Amino acid sequence: MKNITITCDRCGKSVEGIIDKCKTTGAIVTGGYYIVAEGSWKEFARDTEEYVCDDCMHTDPKYQKIYTP
Ligand SMILES: [Zn+2]
Repeated sequence: MKNITITCDRCGKSVEGIIDKCKTTGAIVTGGYYIVAEGSWKEFARDTEEYVCDDCMHTDPKYQKIYTP
């Protein structure tokens, strides 16, 4: 696991997060933010966004529709 500081492309906030690689699936796992430039979160990216912080993602209408019970 590695600590990483990213800048959210939606709100401009600096976010301290983590990045790790799942040992079983090889998938990239992030904490504190989402990589939306590629992979499974790509459909949540707006325009040229690469990183979106937890706060922004969790208030995204599309995210809420899918992941909020
Ligand atoms: Zn944000």
